[in-house]
Amino acid sequence: MTIPRSARYLVIGAGVHGLSTAYHLGRRLREEGQGSGADVVVLEKKRVGAGASGIACGVVRNFYYQPAMNEIMRISVGVWEEHPDVLGYHPVGYIAAVPGTQAGDLVSIADCHAKIGYNSEIVTGQKDCDRHMTAILPDFQSEDVEAVLHEKQGGWAERDKTVAGLAQLARGEGVSVLEGVEVTGFDIQGGRVRGVETSGGHIGAEMVIVAPGPWAAGFWQMLGLPMTVDVQTPDGAARRPMFTYMKLQEGEVQTNVDYATAGGGEPPVIHVDHNVPLVSDMTGEVITTEPWGIYFKRDAGGVQGGAVPINLGTQVNLEPYGHENPEHVVDESFADYFTAGLARTLDRFKGRSHSYKQRPNGGIGAFTPDNFPVFDFMLPNLYFVADSNHGFKMLGVGKEVANLLTGGTSAALKPFPFSRYADGALHPTSHSPYPWN
Ligand SMILES: Cc1cc2nc3c(=O)[nH]c(=O)nc-3n(C[C@H](O)[C@H](O)[C@H](O)COP(=O)(O)OP(=O)(O)OC[C@H]3O[C@@H](n4cnc5c(N)ncnc54)[C@H](O)[C@@H]3O)c2cc1C
Repeated sequence: MTIPRSARYLVIGAGVHGLSTAYHLGRRLREEGQGSGADVVVLEKKRVGAGASGIACGVVRNFYYQPAMNEIMRISVGVWEEHPDVLGYHPVGYIAAVPGTQAGDLVSIADCHAKIGYNSEIVTGQKDCDRHMTAILPDFQSEDVEAVLHEKQGGWAERDKTVAGLAQLARGEGVSVLEGVEVTGFDIQGGRVRGVETSGGHIGAEMVIVAPGPWAAGFWQMLGLPMTVDVQTPDGAARRPMFTYMKLQEGEVQTNVDYATAGGGEPPVIHVDHNVPLVSDMTGEVITTEPWGIYFKRDAGGVQGGAVPINLGTQVNLEPYGHENPEHVVDESFADYFTAGLARTLDRFKGRSHSYKQRPNGGIGAFTPDNFPVFDFMLPNLYFVADSNHGFKMLGVGKEVANLLTGGTSAALKPFPFSRYADGALHPTSHSPYPWN
């Protein structure tokens, strides 16, 4: 592998954002007659998909209460739909079924979907929700469900295929994706980045794109950016850490028969939230009386899904990243929670808690002060993609960044500047128990 001494566009990180940006940069440079993928180099310290993108559940949805997130996801789903096979995309749709406390939120989301041309259907009232859900999954338990948002777009993707597919698309445009090259510092002169220091020496760059996933805090620090920020809220300013880590809790249940719809097809991804107590399928004891929720999709031989994440604070050991790190994976209590949620949602999972697959699962993500992404120039020629762990689904971010960096504009990225914390231009928040809705 030859490491170039300079590049027009240097992308750091070969996760979904780095790879999508690199692919779209190469494509746009070619289409606009401004160059080609040969002008783009991706630097990855380990291998393609070594970060969060390689362990994501792979859910692709537009279940967001924030109009700005709806728009990013509309564009992103367009990218998934353009390359379904190469990205391992299953366009089965996504259903959120929620109690009365969140019904208004779902109606607002559906209104926004209708405005931007994203295909979804809203159902309200317990009886109609029951009719809608049992037509798809006859054993669905709809007690306490007052609203259903059924996205006819979205679904999920096979994460390994996705990252390999994105790398293939980027390389197909002539992009160099260099694995095993670690970025250790920035060469900044006169307020502009001139290049990066790497394990393979100095590489000059005209434009740098940082797409670091959970390693965002390290890069933020390398750039000398503030590790705490004052966030202007309606209640006054609140000092918050720039990055907080959360553990995403995920797991799998094996079934002897295919998890399928009444018609024998692949079910949409299902997300349920409830205010009723969650009762263990293992012991019959109440696990929690607090609001709870799970999401799940078909997986090879069963279902895979997750639940509300756990806040780990600002200090974690990121290395080794992923399933080989015991501090990153779910503990035993998750099996009880997840199988209880499944049993409460679909009758077919009652008494199946023993089918939980015991293996390391889940992982860590880095979240921003308001849990929404920061997509912004942190230097005039350095663009930072801090996705606040929303990102596997967000392939459109790379497309928009590529537009922006090749002389175009991006209205979709505009609502995600770093300055929104100081300005108080925050995104609205929903009644969901998840920090990312
Ligand atoms: C368990 C889990 C489940 C998830 N499920 C979903 C889901 O279902 N749907 C969804 O939309 N999102 C999901 N997410 C979130 C999603 O995975 C991330 O938001 C997204 O993958 C981040 O992509 P990225 O390209 O920014 O980062 P990453 O994929 O982490 O890529 C960053 C890359 O940078 C490299 N790197 C780090 N430091 C350096 C350095 N110094 N030099 C060079 N390279 C470096 C890393 O090795 C890594 O490959 C999940 C996350 C986790 C942890």
